[in-house]
Amino acid sequence: MIEKSALEHSKALEKGEYTAEELVSSYLDRAKACQPLEMFNDLDVDRILEKARAADKRRKAGKAFSAMDGIPVAIKDNICDTEEKTTCSSRFLENYRSPYDATVIEKLKAAGVILFGRTNLDEFAMGSSTENSAFRTTRNPYDPERVPGGSSGGSAAAVGSMSAPLALGSDTGGSIRQPASFCGIVGMKPTYGKVSRYGLVAFASSLDQIGPMALNVEDAAFLLSHIEGKDARDSTSHPYADKYPTSGTVKPMTAKDLKGKKVGVFFPQSEAGFDEAVLKSCEDTRNWLEKQGCQVVNIESRLWQYSIPIYYILATAEASSNLARFDGIRYGTRSKQANLQEVYVRSRTEGFGPEVKRRILLGTFVLSSGYYDAYYNSAQKARRMIRAEYLDFFKDLDFIVQPTSPTTAFRIGEKAENPIAMYQSDLMTISVNLGGVPALSLPLGADSEGLPVGMQITAAHFEEDKLFRFAASLEKDFAPDRSALLKKKYS
Ligand code: GLN
Repeated sequence: MIEKSALEHSKALEKGEYTAEELVSSYLDRAKACQPLEMFNDLDVDRILEKARAADKRRKAGKAFSAMDGIPVAIKDNICDTEEKTTCSSRFLENYRSPYDATVIEKLKAAGVILFGRTNLDEFAMGSSTENSAFRTTRNPYDPERVPGGSSGGSAAAVGSMSAPLALGSDTGGSIRQPASFCGIVGMKPTYGKVSRYGLVAFASSLDQIGPMALNVEDAAFLLSHIEGKDARDSTSHPYADKYPTSGTVKPMTAKDLKGKKVGVFFPQSEAGFDEAVLKSCEDTRNWLEKQGCQVVNIESRLWQYSIPIYYILATAEASSNLARFDGIRYGTRSKQANLQEVYVRSRTEGFGPEVKRRILLGTFVLSSGYYDAYYNSAQKARRMIRAEYLDFFKDLDFIVQPTSPTTAFRIGEKAENPIAMYQSDLMTISVNLGGVPALSLPLGADSEGLPVGMQITAAHFEEDKLFRFAASLEKDFAPDRSALLKKKYS
């Protein structure tokens, strides 16, 4: 059952081929077998079964809420759900319960979706490997000695190991796409403003987006179509989110559609830092595009090389002010101290991990009066130029294709001591967030050890449907075979 796609489950539930209870039970069994991968901060088996039974009752009475009724979706543990703890994998919020549901959670509940566990992440979504979680290090389903990527590593490993058919992640600089690429699944960051951020614990608000993670392109579209939309509670959600709704089904582009499509490729030659297997996947992609009669153009960006420094100024600046609310008074863990100042200082000292502290310090520095213009203001201007460059690219191009990450999944501990090396792994994904455009990572090839490679496809603002259709046509020829993975035993 777990080899089927979410859309297939939807049809099977509709036809009564199996029940939601049987469906979630098979995923619960799989999640149990994959427990050593440490994907979940919490997986409430009894409640999941109870919700599945309720879904079955509704369906039997002809009152299913939506096509997603009874389908399980795993949720990254930084998206607020009143029925669960929202920990952000931080000591600070170890026992935190949100008083409200995030808009995406509200929507999924209204659709009858079974919320399937809280997935692990780098603390407050800061990281690229899930090693920054205060609670556990999630492991890669293809090789448990390796990271699943991050920060949505728990969600990626859950879907990648087929412990859940779908998951939500959040993406500020690559946190959906990079782990999707490491775990051999599809992960998509929608256009900024497509999905409400209300109830997503803020990291860098001008970059954060919630998005779908799935085994294939169509399932990702299916999930996105249920979470998107303008939301009065998030002023940055965009009216176009309603005006151009995502279609829940995806028709791959035909030979006729593909012919003449102008695709900008940004494929590194043999620069240091790019794995052989990644370069090979670039070659395969280029050949495929040419075979379809696409017009392939090598593009150069004057600016992408600056995206990592720009991002680490803006994202840390926003994080330092967003995380100021964690003062030990209103949220989370309060250190027992005699005076107020000490409560602030000790709560933050004890509650935050080292990477979060590093970011708060950096962000506070770039916002400080003597350095504001030199760093924060300059980075804002440079960001504007990156956005302008994307607008320019898409005057002419239909898509941009480039590898999602320079490497396949790295070893646990390999980059943990070297923040710069860790930051470099987001080389390809960060400019997308700075530009606000949508992008998707598609599994395309593997290295000699069977570790998946991901290819990133970017489209113009709000062209999600076009992006999905194009990705689905590539997927027809490159979809990974997951049969060996299913036989893997974890201990
Ligand atoms: N890896 C990047 C960082 O550490 C991006 C994280 C994200 O997208 N949430 O900030």
